[in-house]
Amino acid sequence: MKRVAILGSTGSIGRQALDVVVAHSDRIEVVGLAAGRNWELLAEQADRFKPTVVSVSRLEDAERVKARLGAGIEVLHGEDGLRAVACARDADVVLVAITGVAALLPTIDAIMMSRNIALANKELLVAAGMMITEMAKGMGVQLLPVDSEHSAVWQCLHGRQTEIADIVLTASGGPFRAWPREAMQRTVAADALKHPTWSMGSKISIDSATLMNKGLEVIEARWLFDVDYDHIEVLVHPQSIVHGMARLTDGTVLACLSIPDMKIPIQYAFTYPKRWKMALPALDLAGLGHLGFERPDYDRFPGLKLAYDVGRTAGTAPCVFNAANEVAVNAFLRGGIGYFDIVATVQAVLDKHETVERPGLSEILAADRWARDLAEETIRRVNR
Ligand code: NDP
Repeated sequence: MKRVAILGSTGSIGRQALDVVVAHSDRIEVVGLAAGRNWELLAEQADRFKPTVVSVSRLEDAERVKARLGAGIEVLHGEDGLRAVACARDADVVLVAITGVAALLPTIDAIMMSRNIALANKELLVAAGMMITEMAKGMGVQLLPVDSEHSAVWQCLHGRQTEIADIVLTASGGPFRAWPREAMQRTVAADALKHPTWSMGSKISIDSATLMNKGLEVIEARWLFDVDYDHIEVLVHPQSIVHGMARLTDGTVLACLSIPDMKIPIQYAFTYPKRWKMALPALDLAGLGHLGFERPDYDRFPGLKLAYDVGRTAGTAPCVFNAANEVAVNAFLRGGIGYFDIVATVQAVLDKHETVERPGLSEILAADRWARDLAEETIRRVNR
Protein backbone atom coordinates (compact mmCIF):
# COMPACT_ATOMS: atom_id res chain seq x y z
CA MET A 1 0.00 0.00 0.00
CA LYS A 2 1.18 3.54 -0.83
CA ARG A 3 0.01 5.95 1.87
CA VAL A 4 -0.53 9.52 0.73
CA ALA A 5 -1.39 12.80 2.43
CA ILE A 6 -2.83 15.49 0.16
CA LEU A 7 -2.48 19.21 0.88
CA GLY A 8 -5.06 21.00 -1.26
CA SER A 9 -7.42 18.04 -1.77
CA THR A 10 -10.35 20.25 -2.81
CA GLY A 11 -8.41 21.94 -5.63
CA SER A 12 -7.91 20.95 -9.24
CA ILE A 13 -4.78 18.85 -8.58
CA GLY A 14 -6.11 17.50 -5.29
CA ARG A 15 -9.34 16.26 -6.85
CA GLN A 16 -7.46 14.63 -9.73
CA ALA A 17 -5.12 12.98 -7.21
CA LEU A 18 -8.17 11.49 -5.51
CA ASP A 19 -9.36 10.21 -8.92
CA VAL A 20 -6.00 8.40 -9.14
CA VAL A 21 -6.61 6.96 -5.66
CA VAL A 22 -10.08 5.76 -6.70
CA ALA A 23 -8.61 4.05 -9.77
CA HIS A 24 -6.11 2.21 -7.53
CA SER A 25 -8.00 1.93 -4.26
CA ASP A 26 -6.43 -1.48 -3.61
CA ARG A 27 -2.91 0.04 -3.74
CA ILE A 28 -3.18 3.63 -2.48
CA GLU A 29 -4.48 4.72 0.91
CA VAL A 30 -5.24 8.31 1.92
CA VAL A 31 -3.94 9.13 5.41
CA GLY A 32 -4.42 12.91 5.47
CA LEU A 33 -6.37 15.61 3.62
CA ALA A 34 -6.08 19.39 3.92
CA ALA A 35 -8.14 22.11 2.27
CA GLY A 36 -8.80 25.82 2.62
CA ARG A 37 -12.39 27.13 2.61
CA ASN A 38 -14.27 24.34 0.83
CA TRP A 39 -15.15 22.45 4.02
CA GLU A 40 -18.16 20.67 2.48
CA LEU A 41 -16.09 18.97 -0.22
CA LEU A 42 -13.37 18.21 2.32
CA ALA A 43 -15.98 16.55 4.57
CA GLU A 44 -17.27 14.48 1.63
CA GLN A 45 -13.72 13.42 0.74
CA ALA A 46 -12.94 12.52 4.35
CA ASP A 47 -16.12 10.49 4.61
CA ARG A 48 -15.20 8.59 1.47
CA PHE A 49 -11.44 8.09 1.92
CA LYS A 50 -11.30 7.78 5.73
CA PRO A 51 -7.95 9.51 6.42
CA THR A 52 -6.74 9.71 10.02
CA VAL A 53 -6.43 13.51 10.00
CA VAL A 54 -7.97 16.39 8.02
CA SER A 55 -7.68 20.15 8.17
CA VAL A 56 -9.46 23.26 6.86
CA SER A 57 -8.42 26.90 7.12
CA ARG A 58 -11.03 28.21 9.57
CA LEU A 59 -12.05 27.05 13.04
CA GLU A 60 -15.79 27.41 12.29
CA ASP A 61 -15.42 25.21 9.19
CA ALA A 62 -13.50 22.61 11.22
CA GLU A 63 -16.47 22.49 13.63
CA ARG A 64 -18.81 21.91 10.69
CA VAL A 65 -16.59 19.12 9.34
CA LYS A 66 -16.46 17.52 12.81
CA ALA A 67 -20.25 17.59 13.08
CA ARG A 68 -20.53 15.99 9.63
CA LEU A 69 -17.96 13.25 10.27
CA GLY A 70 -18.47 12.20 13.86
CA ALA A 71 -15.65 10.51 15.79
CA GLY A 72 -12.69 8.62 14.30
CA ILE A 73 -11.08 11.29 12.13
CA GLU A 74 -9.03 14.05 13.72
CA VAL A 75 -10.27 17.43 12.42
CA LEU A 76 -7.88 20.39 12.69
CA HIS A 77 -7.71 23.90 11.29
CA GLY A 78 -5.42 26.74 10.27
CA GLU A 79 -1.69 26.62 9.68
CA ASP A 80 -1.17 24.13 12.52
CA GLY A 81 -3.77 21.83 10.99
CA LEU A 82 -2.14 22.04 7.58
CA ARG A 83 1.23 21.24 9.12
CA ALA A 84 -0.24 18.29 11.03
CA VAL A 85 -1.64 16.82 7.80
CA ALA A 86 1.78 17.29 6.16
CA CYS A 87 3.16 15.13 8.98
CA ALA A 88 0.29 12.60 8.92
CA ARG A 89 1.32 9.36 10.52
CA ASP A 90 2.66 6.67 8.17
CA ALA A 91 2.46 8.78 4.98
CA ASP A 92 4.93 7.62 2.30
CA VAL A 93 4.27 10.62 0.06
CA VAL A 94 2.87 14.09 0.73
CA LEU A 95 1.27 15.70 -2.31
CA VAL A 96 1.77 19.46 -2.03
CA ALA A 97 -1.07 20.89 -4.09
CA ILE A 98 -2.04 24.07 -2.28
CA THR A 99 -1.33 27.31 -4.08
CA GLY A 100 1.34 29.79 -3.12
CA VAL A 101 3.88 30.05 -0.31
CA ALA A 102 1.32 28.82 2.23
CA ALA A 103 2.86 25.47 1.28
CA LEU A 104 6.31 26.41 2.58
CA LEU A 105 6.15 25.51 6.28
CA PRO A 106 4.08 22.32 5.87
CA THR A 107 6.50 21.11 3.18
CA ILE A 108 9.50 21.80 5.40
CA ASP A 109 7.77 19.83 8.19
CA ALA A 110 7.11 16.91 5.84
CA ILE A 111 10.74 16.91 4.67
CA MET A 112 11.96 16.94 8.28
CA MET A 113 9.72 13.89 8.89
CA SER A 114 11.49 12.19 5.92
CA ARG A 115 8.32 12.10 3.80
CA ASN A 116 8.84 12.08 0.06
CA ILE A 117 7.24 15.11 -1.57
CA ALA A 118 5.08 14.96 -4.70
CA LEU A 119 5.40 18.59 -5.68
CA ALA A 120 2.64 20.26 -7.67
CA ASN A 121 3.08 23.67 -6.04
CA LYS A 122 5.74 25.55 -7.99
CA GLU A 123 5.77 28.75 -5.94
CA LEU A 124 7.62 26.90 -3.19
CA LEU A 125 10.79 26.22 -5.18
CA VAL A 126 10.61 29.69 -6.68
CA ALA A 127 10.54 31.32 -3.24
CA ALA A 128 12.89 28.95 -1.44
CA GLY A 129 14.46 26.63 -4.01
CA MET A 130 17.95 26.50 -2.56
CA MET A 131 16.74 25.92 1.00
CA ILE A 132 14.16 23.25 0.09
CA THR A 133 16.46 21.29 -2.22
CA GLU A 134 19.31 21.38 0.33
CA MET A 135 16.95 20.23 3.09
CA ALA A 136 15.54 17.43 0.94
CA LYS A 137 19.03 16.28 0.03
CA GLY A 138 20.13 16.40 3.66
CA MET A 139 17.14 14.31 4.76
CA GLY A 140 17.39 11.87 1.82
CA VAL A 141 13.91 12.97 0.69
CA GLN A 142 12.83 12.77 -2.94
CA LEU A 143 11.17 15.76 -4.59
CA LEU A 144 8.88 14.08 -7.11
CA PRO A 145 7.75 16.56 -9.79
CA VAL A 146 4.02 16.72 -10.51
CA ASP A 147 4.03 19.76 -12.76
CA SER A 148 3.61 18.13 -16.18
CA GLU A 149 6.65 19.80 -17.77
CA HIS A 150 8.93 18.88 -14.90
CA SER A 151 7.59 15.36 -14.71
CA ALA A 152 8.35 15.06 -18.44
CA VAL A 153 11.89 16.42 -18.13
CA TRP A 154 12.46 14.21 -15.07
CA GLN A 155 11.44 11.15 -17.08
CA CYS A 156 13.80 12.16 -19.91
CA LEU A 157 16.64 12.64 -17.41
CA HIS A 158 16.36 9.39 -15.47
CA GLY A 159 19.95 8.23 -14.99
CA ARG A 160 21.38 10.74 -17.51
CA GLN A 161 22.26 13.73 -15.33
CA THR A 162 25.84 13.91 -16.69
CA GLU A 163 24.74 13.73 -20.34
CA ILE A 164 22.43 16.75 -20.31
CA ALA A 165 23.16 19.78 -22.48
CA ASP A 166 19.84 21.62 -22.10
CA ILE A 167 16.33 21.05 -20.89
CA VAL A 168 13.27 22.33 -22.71
CA LEU A 169 9.97 23.22 -21.07
CA THR A 170 7.00 23.59 -23.37
CA ALA A 171 4.21 26.13 -22.93
CA SER A 172 0.79 26.01 -24.54
CA GLY A 173 1.03 29.78 -24.97
CA GLY A 174 -2.21 30.26 -23.02
CA PRO A 175 -5.43 31.84 -24.30
CA PHE A 176 -3.64 34.96 -25.66
CA ARG A 177 -0.94 33.22 -27.67
CA ALA A 178 -2.19 34.68 -30.95
CA TRP A 179 -3.77 37.90 -29.61
CA PRO A 180 -2.36 41.31 -30.61
CA ARG A 181 -1.01 43.42 -27.75
CA GLU A 182 -3.87 45.97 -28.01
CA ALA A 183 -6.50 43.28 -27.47
CA MET A 184 -4.53 41.83 -24.54
CA GLN A 185 -4.54 45.29 -22.97
CA ARG A 186 -8.34 45.22 -22.77
CA THR A 187 -8.72 41.64 -21.63
CA VAL A 188 -10.47 40.64 -18.38
CA ALA A 189 -10.16 37.67 -16.03
CA ALA A 190 -12.95 35.70 -17.74
CA ASP A 191 -10.91 35.64 -21.01
CA ALA A 192 -7.70 34.76 -19.22
CA LEU A 193 -9.35 31.86 -17.38
CA LYS A 194 -10.22 30.11 -20.67
CA HIS A 195 -7.14 27.94 -21.02
CA PRO A 196 -7.01 26.23 -24.43
CA THR A 197 -5.68 22.81 -23.33
CA TRP A 198 -5.61 22.42 -19.53
CA SER A 199 -8.35 22.69 -16.92
CA MET A 200 -6.75 24.22 -13.81
CA GLY A 201 -7.30 26.44 -10.75
CA SER A 202 -7.74 30.18 -11.27
CA LYS A 203 -4.28 31.34 -10.07
CA ILE A 204 -2.35 29.05 -12.41
CA SER A 205 -4.77 29.79 -15.28
CA ILE A 206 -4.00 33.52 -15.03
CA ASP A 207 -0.28 32.72 -14.71
CA SER A 208 -0.58 30.70 -17.91
CA ALA A 209 -2.21 33.63 -19.66
CA THR A 210 0.71 35.91 -18.72
CA LEU A 211 3.36 33.16 -19.18
CA MET A 212 4.35 33.97 -15.58
CA ASN A 213 3.54 30.31 -15.02
CA LYS A 214 6.31 29.34 -17.42
CA GLY A 215 8.61 31.79 -15.71
CA LEU A 216 7.86 30.18 -12.35
CA GLU A 217 8.49 26.79 -13.96
CA VAL A 218 11.86 27.89 -15.31
CA ILE A 219 12.96 28.75 -11.77
CA GLU A 220 11.39 25.53 -10.46
CA ALA A 221 13.35 23.55 -13.08
CA ARG A 222 16.61 25.22 -12.11
CA TRP A 223 16.23 23.81 -8.58
CA LEU A 224 14.68 20.45 -9.40
CA PHE A 225 17.30 19.55 -11.99
CA ASP A 226 20.26 21.69 -10.90
CA VAL A 227 20.59 23.18 -14.39
CA ASP A 228 21.82 26.71 -15.09
CA TYR A 229 19.34 29.22 -16.62
CA ASP A 230 21.38 29.38 -19.84
CA HIS A 231 20.45 25.73 -20.34
CA ILE A 232 16.71 25.98 -19.71
CA GLU A 233 14.74 26.81 -22.83
CA VAL A 234 11.03 27.54 -23.22
CA LEU A 235 9.22 26.63 -26.42
CA VAL A 236 5.59 27.45 -27.15
CA HIS A 237 3.82 24.27 -28.22
CA PRO A 238 0.08 24.93 -28.59
CA GLN A 239 -1.01 21.28 -28.65
CA SER A 240 0.37 20.51 -25.14
CA ILE A 241 1.40 17.01 -26.19
CA VAL A 242 5.18 17.26 -25.77
CA HIS A 243 5.52 18.37 -22.15
CA GLY A 244 9.28 18.51 -21.79
CA MET A 245 12.51 17.57 -23.51
CA ALA A 246 16.16 16.96 -22.72
CA ARG A 247 18.91 17.76 -25.22
CA LEU A 248 21.81 15.42 -24.60
CA THR A 249 25.47 16.23 -25.13
CA ASP A 250 25.62 14.25 -28.41
CA GLY A 251 22.73 16.23 -29.92
CA THR A 252 20.05 13.61 -29.26
CA VAL A 253 16.78 15.10 -28.01
CA LEU A 254 14.55 13.04 -25.73
CA ALA A 255 10.94 14.15 -25.46
CA CYS A 256 8.12 13.02 -23.19
CA LEU A 257 4.67 13.01 -24.79
CA SER A 258 1.19 12.30 -23.50
CA ILE A 259 -2.33 13.60 -23.75
CA PRO A 260 -2.69 16.68 -21.52
CA ASP A 261 -4.07 15.08 -18.36
CA MET A 262 -2.59 15.90 -14.96
CA LYS A 263 -3.57 12.49 -13.61
CA ILE A 264 -0.58 11.05 -15.54
CA PRO A 265 2.17 13.01 -13.72
CA ILE A 266 0.26 12.80 -10.41
CA GLN A 267 0.10 9.02 -10.65
CA TYR A 268 3.74 8.74 -11.71
CA ALA A 269 4.82 10.77 -8.67
CA PHE A 270 2.86 8.32 -6.50
CA THR A 271 4.17 5.16 -8.18
CA TYR A 272 7.77 6.16 -9.10
CA PRO A 273 9.92 4.31 -10.03
CA LYS A 274 7.14 1.96 -11.15
CA ARG A 275 4.38 2.66 -13.66
CA TRP A 276 0.83 1.58 -13.14
CA LYS A 277 -1.90 1.28 -15.76
CA MET A 278 -4.17 4.25 -16.45
CA ALA A 279 -7.58 4.15 -18.12
CA LEU A 280 -7.08 7.17 -20.39
CA PRO A 281 -7.54 7.58 -24.16
CA ALA A 282 -4.40 6.66 -26.15
CA LEU A 283 -2.39 9.50 -27.66
CA ASP A 284 -3.46 9.64 -31.33
CA LEU A 285 -0.56 11.34 -33.14
CA ALA A 286 -1.94 10.67 -36.62
CA GLY A 287 -5.23 12.19 -35.52
CA LEU A 288 -3.38 15.30 -34.35
CA GLY A 289 -1.60 15.61 -37.70
CA HIS A 290 1.21 17.89 -36.62
CA LEU A 291 2.94 19.26 -33.55
CA GLY A 292 4.03 22.90 -33.69
CA PHE A 293 6.75 24.80 -31.81
CA GLU A 294 7.43 28.56 -31.59
CA ARG A 295 9.74 30.80 -29.63
CA PRO A 296 7.98 32.82 -26.93
CA ASP A 297 7.25 36.49 -27.62
CA TYR A 298 8.90 38.40 -24.77
CA ASP A 299 7.29 41.65 -25.86
CA ARG A 300 3.71 40.47 -25.34
CA PHE A 301 4.73 38.21 -22.44
CA PRO A 302 7.33 40.24 -20.48
CA GLY A 303 6.79 38.15 -17.33
CA LEU A 304 8.78 35.25 -18.79
CA LYS A 305 11.84 37.40 -19.44
CA LEU A 306 11.50 38.89 -15.95
CA ALA A 307 11.49 35.38 -14.46
CA TYR A 308 14.84 34.57 -16.10
CA ASP A 309 16.23 37.86 -14.76
CA VAL A 310 15.12 37.27 -11.16
CA GLY A 311 16.20 33.64 -11.37
CA ARG A 312 19.71 34.76 -12.30
CA THR A 313 19.69 37.42 -9.55
CA ALA A 314 18.67 34.61 -7.13
CA GLY A 315 18.62 35.21 -3.34
CA THR A 316 15.28 36.71 -2.28
CA ALA A 317 14.50 38.13 -5.77
CA PRO A 318 12.46 35.10 -6.99
CA CYS A 319 10.54 35.05 -3.68
CA VAL A 320 9.61 38.71 -4.18
CA PHE A 321 8.71 38.05 -7.83
CA ASN A 322 6.38 35.25 -6.77
CA ALA A 323 4.74 37.09 -3.87
CA ALA A 324 4.08 40.26 -5.89
CA ASN A 325 2.68 38.11 -8.69
CA GLU A 326 0.27 36.33 -6.31
CA VAL A 327 -1.08 39.67 -5.11
CA ALA A 328 -1.32 41.08 -8.64
CA VAL A 329 -3.10 37.97 -9.95
CA ASN A 330 -5.68 38.23 -7.16
CA ALA A 331 -6.21 41.91 -8.02
CA PHE A 332 -6.66 41.03 -11.70
CA LEU A 333 -9.14 38.26 -10.81
CA ARG A 334 -11.16 40.83 -8.82
CA GLY A 335 -11.08 43.23 -11.79
CA GLY A 336 -8.90 45.67 -9.83
CA ILE A 337 -6.07 45.91 -12.38
CA GLY A 338 -5.53 45.23 -16.08
CA TYR A 339 -3.64 42.37 -17.71
CA PHE A 340 -0.33 44.18 -18.26
CA ASP A 341 -0.55 45.69 -14.75
CA ILE A 342 0.22 42.23 -13.36
CA VAL A 343 3.80 42.21 -14.63
CA ALA A 344 4.13 45.99 -14.13
CA THR A 345 3.23 45.54 -10.44
CA VAL A 346 5.78 42.74 -10.05
CA GLN A 347 8.44 44.86 -11.76
CA ALA A 348 7.64 47.90 -9.56
CA VAL A 349 8.04 45.80 -6.42
CA LEU A 350 11.28 44.21 -7.65
CA ASP A 351 12.69 47.66 -8.47
CA LYS A 352 12.46 48.57 -4.77
CA HIS A 353 13.82 45.28 -3.46
CA GLU A 354 17.28 44.87 -2.00
CA THR A 355 18.14 41.25 -2.63
CA VAL A 356 19.42 39.11 0.23
CA GLU A 357 21.81 36.44 -1.02
CA ARG A 358 21.45 32.90 0.37
CA PRO A 359 18.40 33.74 2.52
CA GLY A 360 17.30 31.56 5.45
CA LEU A 361 13.67 30.84 6.31
CA SER A 362 13.10 34.06 8.26
CA GLU A 363 14.53 36.17 5.44
CA ILE A 364 12.37 34.38 2.88
CA LEU A 365 9.23 34.90 4.96
CA ALA A 366 10.16 38.56 5.53
CA ALA A 367 10.79 39.15 1.80
CA ASP A 368 7.48 37.48 0.98
CA ARG A 369 5.57 39.69 3.47
CA TRP A 370 7.37 42.84 2.32
CA ALA A 371 6.63 42.12 -1.34
CA ARG A 372 2.94 41.44 -0.66
CA ASP A 373 2.53 44.68 1.28
CA LEU A 374 4.30 46.71 -1.38
CA ALA A 375 2.34 45.06 -4.20
CA GLU A 376 -0.96 45.85 -2.40
CA GLU A 377 0.17 49.45 -1.93
CA THR A 378 1.28 49.72 -5.58
CA ILE A 379 -2.11 48.47 -6.75
CA ARG A 380 -3.96 50.85 -4.42
CA ARG A 381 -1.91 53.75 -5.81
CA VAL A 382 -2.70 52.76 -9.43
CA ASN A 383 -6.42 52.66 -8.58
CA ARG A 384 -6.49 55.98 -6.76
P1 NDP B 1 -6.69 25.28 -6.96
O1 NDP B 1 -6.90 26.73 -6.76
O2 NDP B 1 -7.62 24.52 -7.81
O3 NDP B 1 -6.65 24.54 -5.54
C1 NDP B 1 -5.87 25.02 -4.48
C2 NDP B 1 -6.04 24.11 -3.29
O4 NDP B 1 -5.29 24.60 -2.21
C3 NDP B 1 -7.48 24.03 -2.79
O5 NDP B 1 -7.70 22.76 -2.22
C4 NDP B 1 -7.52 25.10 -1.70
O6 NDP B 1 -8.53 24.88 -0.74
C5 NDP B 1 -6.15 24.86 -1.09
N1 NDP B 1 -5.58 26.00 -0.39
C6 NDP B 1 -5.22 27.19 -0.93
N2 NDP B 1 -4.68 27.97 0.03
C7 NDP B 1 -4.69 27.24 1.18
C8 NDP B 1 -4.27 27.49 2.51
N3 NDP B 1 -3.71 28.65 2.86
N4 NDP B 1 -4.43 26.52 3.43
C9 NDP B 1 -4.99 25.32 3.09
N5 NDP B 1 -5.40 25.03 1.83
C10 NDP B 1 -5.26 25.99 0.91
O7 NDP B 1 -5.19 25.14 -7.46
P2 NDP B 1 -4.56 24.03 -8.42
O8 NDP B 1 -4.96 22.67 -7.95
O9 NDP B 1 -4.78 24.41 -9.82
O10 NDP B 1 -3.01 24.24 -8.16
C11 NDP B 1 -2.39 23.86 -6.95
C12 NDP B 1 -0.88 24.02 -7.09
O11 NDP B 1 -0.43 23.12 -8.10
C13 NDP B 1 -0.45 25.42 -7.55
O12 NDP B 1 0.73 25.77 -6.92
C14 NDP B 1 -0.26 25.26 -9.05
O13 NDP B 1 0.71 26.16 -9.55
C15 NDP B 1 0.23 23.83 -9.13
N6 NDP B 1 -0.06 23.18 -10.41
C16 NDP B 1 -1.35 23.05 -10.84
C17 NDP B 1 -1.63 22.45 -12.05
C18 NDP B 1 -3.04 22.24 -12.53
O14 NDP B 1 -3.21 21.62 -13.58
N7 NDP B 1 -4.04 22.71 -11.83
C19 NDP B 1 -0.55 21.97 -12.92
C20 NDP B 1 0.75 22.09 -12.34
C21 NDP B 1 0.99 22.69 -11.14
P3 NDP B 1 -10.07 25.41 -0.92
O15 NDP B 1 -10.41 25.27 -2.36
O16 NDP B 1 -10.80 24.45 -0.03
O17 NDP B 1 -10.10 26.81 -0.43
